[in-house]
Amino acid sequence: MKFYIEFNPCKECKEMIKEIKEGFPTDDNSQKFLRHLTYNHSEIGQAIIDEFPKEEEKEHFPWFQ
Ligand SMILES: [Zn+2]
Repeated sequence: MKFYIEFNPCKECKEMIKEIKEGFPTDDNSQKFLRHLTYNHSEIGQAIIDEFPKEEEKEHFPWFQ
């Protein structure tokens, strides 16, 4: 996901991205990750919200709708 490269992830971010990329169940991980971004990286959180929704990404983020 392109927003990964648009900010400097902290340690928690990196761990969550790693989990998501390694194929752990994505709904919980994605939701946790967006919550983390919203609270800890408010600028990127807003950027993601502006970016959404796109049809193909809705499938990966059903909780976002
Ligand atoms: Zn972070």
